[in-house]
Amino acid sequence: MYTVLITEDEADIRQLISFNLERESMETLLAKDGIEAIEIAQEKEPDLIILDIMLPKLDGFAVFKELRQDSRTRDIPVIMLTAKAQLDDVVTGLEMGADDYLTKPFSPRELVLRVKALLRRIKTTTSKSTITSGKFRLDKNTLHCFVAGEQLDLTPTEFKLLLLMIEREGTVQNREDLLREVWGYRDTANSRTLDTHIKRLREKLGDFSRCIKTVRSVGYQFRSNA
Ligand code: CA
Repeated sequence: MYTVLITEDEADIRQLISFNLERESMETLLAKDGIEAIEIAQEKEPDLIILDIMLPKLDGFAVFKELRQDSRTRDIPVIMLTAKAQLDDVVTGLEMGADDYLTKPFSPRELVLRVKALLRRIKTTTSKSTITSGKFRLDKNTLHCFVAGEQLDLTPTEFKLLLLMIEREGTVQNREDLLREVWGYRDTANSRTLDTHIKRLREKLGDFSRCIKTVRSVGYQFRSNA
């Protein structure tokens, strides 16, 4: 059973999210401000955190920073909630390393799909837990990624994205499929999530960033020997 921490100061939205996740057999924890969110996250170590940006006491960005600095909470996936008008917030959140975002008002169904997609652990097949391609080696059990023998510090979502592309090496992965499979998006129009994650992934890959090629207006392609 998964536990989700919902951080939202507006009681009706908090209840709406909680109701919809509990209907999917998830356990929910509720925080109404930034301080409470950090305390609950550290104590309960939920499987996922939904984090509103505009919060009393400590805003969502400050909360996120705290979560990423603490070993107990640093790998917990985070979905940020933003007001539709605040697109800058979306970009800031993603660049800080949030896994996904939703703009208000959002449909509860969309939220549930996104939550489930991020919670879906990388399935390990019995025979092969390690996948190798060129200088890349990914261990699906530990979520460790090595490039030319150096371990990269990837978030679980970055790992999932890279793994998917390596498994389909050489074929062009269109944006819609990647957003659907990694994040559970139904409507993929105008999403900043994928491009921001690719950007972060490339930064971490350094010299090997060229292995992820942009295919204009379609998506991305991975080649280990690029
Ligand atoms: Ca708020």
